[in-house]
Amino acid sequence: MADKIAVGGVSVDTRHWIGGRRVASSGTFPDVSPIDGTTLGEISRGTPKEAASAVAAAKAAFPAWAATPRAERARILHAIADGVEKRLEELAIVETTDNGALLRSHRRGVMPRVAHNFRFFADWLLSLDHDDFDTFPSGGSAAGRGHTNHVSWDPAGPCVLITPWNAPLMLATWKVAPALAAGDTVVLKPAEWSPLTASLLADIAAEAGLPAGVLNVVQGYGAEIGDALTSHPDVRRISFTGSVPTAQRIAASAAANLTPLSLELGGKSPLLVFADADLELAVDLAVEQYDNAGQVCLAATRILVEEPVAEEFTRRFTEKAARLTQGDPRDAATDVGPNIHPRQLEKIDGFVQRAVAAGARAVIGGHRSDGQYYAPTLLTDVAQDSEIVQEEVFGPVLTLQTFADEDEAVRLANDTRFGLAATVATGDQARADRVGARLVAGTVWVNCFFVRDLQAPFGGSRQSGVGREGGTWSFDFYCDLKNTVTAP
Ligand code: NAD
Repeated sequence: MADKIAVGGVSVDTRHWIGGRRVASSGTFPDVSPIDGTTLGEISRGTPKEAASAVAAAKAAFPAWAATPRAERARILHAIADGVEKRLEELAIVETTDNGALLRSHRRGVMPRVAHNFRFFADWLLSLDHDDFDTFPSGGSAAGRGHTNHVSWDPAGPCVLITPWNAPLMLATWKVAPALAAGDTVVLKPAEWSPLTASLLADIAAEAGLPAGVLNVVQGYGAEIGDALTSHPDVRRISFTGSVPTAQRIAASAAANLTPLSLELGGKSPLLVFADADLELAVDLAVEQYDNAGQVCLAATRILVEEPVAEEFTRRFTEKAARLTQGDPRDAATDVGPNIHPRQLEKIDGFVQRAVAAGARAVIGGHRSDGQYYAPTLLTDVAQDSEIVQEEVFGPVLTLQTFADEDEAVRLANDTRFGLAATVATGDQARADRVGARLVAGTVWVNCFFVRDLQAPFGGSRQSGVGREGGTWSFDFYCDLKNTVTAP
């Protein structure tokens, strides 16, 4: 096996990164580009042995990193952000080749956000530990009067971070950055369908001066090494982004040691279009759901339109969607790229064909395009309790249903086992407030989509997740919170 492969002219190490050293496994797995099915190279196929050495390296590095002054930890995180910015173009081309998402999105949005993840949590770290208050300052228990409470965020220990392929480096650094800022050490397990940018991140972090063992990267199949990581007694936190079935396995495995979990899972989010909405904006929001070929956890894949505007909405949507260009994600003109894997394509088409067999009508799409591409699809005449309305497809497939009034809109929107996000298009702020308050979702967007400040909590209700990430919620998760009470 070659230790390094060239991807888009960038050299990427195919081995694990453990304790500050490159480590190879005897076995490998192929990494295939979804753009054209080319095998990019063979990647080290981790086993429980490498999983255990990565946890051991993270454990050994923990005391010194936890004791590193915050200002120094923050300085190193900013240096990692500098490294990401310096290699932004390389990261963008490698990520696009590896997972098929648009190159222009990686250049303009995703990779700058990766750098921002490090800067944001570095700066937030320096604002912690200002939480001091008196016990019952104005009455209450006489026994506790005048005592000072000091809340501190203590580093928790080695963390296992497991991430999916649809936004590999963005989602990995959304976990790595706060964990490192908090003073924890990390074993990162990227998805086997997009292993490359995690390897580049290890190089960047080492160049930025992150001490050996603080960040470790183990490659491989989740089914082969996941359990060795998630059931390990030395692991103090597990943060996972991925599917519900995998989360259930991880939760069962973590139960052995009662390891605290953060779970960011799937969704089947609604877009509610009211008759008083700016219809052009509503159509734009709906067409935007084909971004990343529909492989977005937050995607509003269930379009719910108020009856009086349904026909006009569908007409304008169809017109706009017809102008989308599907093709090579490296081309600037491309709007919709490939889907990640032949197996995923099979799954998407299965959902669509079963829906059509059950009576759904494909207004657009409803079939594969050439290669590993699926035609952007809109299905109408779908029943609320049907598979296509209830299950996450994770491809460019939307459904459209109509509603008569606000009550019915909310009922349809909430009739799902998920609760990740919801988008409301309306020209009436009072309605937005009323409807928003009734929706079960971690994020509600009003007349917008995908915009979020990193200070805000991010996560899902119901089966879309457990816990919240972002701002203080990330630190609360990656730290052991302590209250020290001092007598007057
Ligand atoms: P997946 O659950 O198949 O895999 C995710 C990761 O888990 C991979 O790294 C995989 O190797 C690993 N894994 C698999 N089995 C494991 C096991 N037994 N133990 C430990 N790890 C194991 O998910 P996917 O197909 O890669 O990603 C798509 C899913 O992720 C969708 O459901 C999507 O909605 C969800 N997602 C959620 C968010 C969010 O923030 N809520 C963001 C992106 C994606």
